Amino acid sequence: MSEEKSLNFIEEIVEADLSSGKYQSIVTRFPPEPNGYLHIGHAKSICLNFGLANKYGGKTNLRFDDTNPVTEDTEYVESIKDDVRWLGFNWAEERYASDYFEQLYGFAIKLIEKGLAYVDDSTSEAIAQQKGTPTQAGTNSPFRDRSVAENLELFKAMRAGQFKDGEKVLRAKIDMAHPNMHMRDPIIYRIKHAHHHRTGDQWCIYPMYDFAHGQSDAIENITHSVCTLEFIPHRALYDWFIEQLEIFPSKQYEFARLNMTYTVMSKRKLLQLVNEKYVNGWDDPRMSTISGMRRRGYTAEAIREFCDRIGIAKRDNLIDVGLLEFCVREHLNKIAVRRMVVFDPLKVVLTNYEGEGEVLWSENNPEDATAGNREIPFSKELYIERDDFMEVAPKKYFRLAPGQMVRLKSAYIIRCDEVVKDANGIITELHCTYIPESKSGSDTSGINVKGTLHWVSARHAVKAEVRLYDRLFKVEDVGNAEGDFKDHINTDSLEIINNAYAEPALAADSSDNRYQFLRKGYFCLDKDSTTEKLVFNRTVTLKDTWAKEVKKG
Ligand code: ATP
Ligand code: MG
Repeated sequence: MSEEKSLNFIEEIVEADLSSGKYQSIVTRFPPEPNGYLHIGHAKSICLNFGLANKYGGKTNLRFDDTNPVTEDTEYVESIKDDVRWLGFNWAEERYASDYFEQLYGFAIKLIEKGLAYVDDSTSEAIAQQKGTPTQAGTNSPFRDRSVAENLELFKAMRAGQFKDGEKVLRAKIDMAHPNMHMRDPIIYRIKHAHHHRTGDQWCIYPMYDFAHGQSDAIENITHSVCTLEFIPHRALYDWFIEQLEIFPSKQYEFARLNMTYTVMSKRKLLQLVNEKYVNGWDDPRMSTISGMRRRGYTAEAIREFCDRIGIAKRDNLIDVGLLEFCVREHLNKIAVRRMVVFDPLKVVLTNYEGEGEVLWSENNPEDATAGNREIPFSKELYIERDDFMEVAPKKYFRLAPGQMVRLKSAYIIRCDEVVKDANGIITELHCTYIPESKSGSDTSGINVKGTLHWVSARHAVKAEVRLYDRLFKVEDVGNAEGDFKDHINTDSLEIINNAYAEPALAADSSDNRYQFLRKGYFCLDKDSTTEKLVFNRTVTLKDTWAKEVKKG
């Protein structure tokens, strides 16, 4: 795209802050909680945060927001790092909110000393009661007026492990009648005797999200802390803590999270799909995870292009997954090497073909002059696709039929002379003649045919399994569909073709190649592939067949 793109609203803020001299350079962060694998929604946040720093010459930290010991794991930390790198971004520093536990504890002490936090013995039910409702003021906790000295002593005892889970919490002392419910004396520390994936058993009190996030931003001198819209009501609290603690004035900005048709995107739901075995792991090619998309053959370039095209909005919306597939197709068309694979083989015997066979050539990618050519063996016995033949063909059927001619891609024109069947009437092979003068590239036959078929040489072909994927959900807006999201799973989302034949060039290729199987779609090699059996994933179809089906239905 050559035309100048207009700035999104966050870029406008950044440009204003730079030109006013408020900042000399910007610092952003991507702050995943390591409680699952990253999904395409995170990719949007990654592209935004790293994109801002790249564009304006700043830096981006990767910060693991690991303040919840129960759901987090180092497996997730590693997968997140892999995915961010694969998407093409480098972080300035790798940070962990848990590295700040001591500092955060100090911040809590400071609040207590300022008379702005207190230890509360109320039960969680009582605290919920005290909160009031959006239209009704809350009520003060009976523990709200403890002295600073008592609060300090109790908070230290909380840290020392003298209480059980839930026995006490630390709350900020703000205003129980505040119109923003988040400002009604929010809990900032809770007791949790749980093992943490990094700090082990060092702590039994953990800061709440609101007491960790903004302060971590401030510790790292984050200038623009970008998050999704649901944090708008948290912003007042974010600012309040920073002001009271007199720390670096990070600012929070919110944009609309990515929602996509036929897809779920919350880690909690994705975890259910994995645990309840609706899919084969976090990197199942049907998942909306980065690792699933990578395994399916999506490219980082295509995902970045998609994130760029959807832009940054201030209102929630639902993006058509077809747009992502469009971006994938557009990129793969440029880089995928062309190959021939027959999914449902029907044997063709060329009765007039003599000799051992020959080597033909075909270009790897007509879209890319530098991609070169490949060898394709041709011989007397070939396979074509069973559904490229019809014994009784309608008018305007341009594929193979008795007495009819087609071109075999990059090879010869053949004519079908005879149909051979077994005792049950199933067609077992076709006897055809080939036209020697019709060789692609030096065709002097003068014969014009309308149909071109893909094919493989029977003797040279290699066996392959091909996995075809469909949408994992049957409804467009899964998030707002009735009932449980799992009620809407498409149980036919995986079709396995296990008797395909691939041209031999595929056996020798490197694992990260992307392919266009002629007339079939875009494919990549799966990690389940072995030297005995190639396994391919269909990345995306050649055209948006789904859009048509929906209209027909
Ligand atoms: P989930 O609900 O999937 O667990 P989350 O927001 O809890 O998502 P985090 O690990 O806390 O996940 O998110 C890391 C960053 O990614 C946050 O800044 C968050 O706002 C952003 N993010 C998460 N989901 C999306 C999405 N669908 N679109 C855009 N940004 C997202
Ligand atoms: Mg979260």
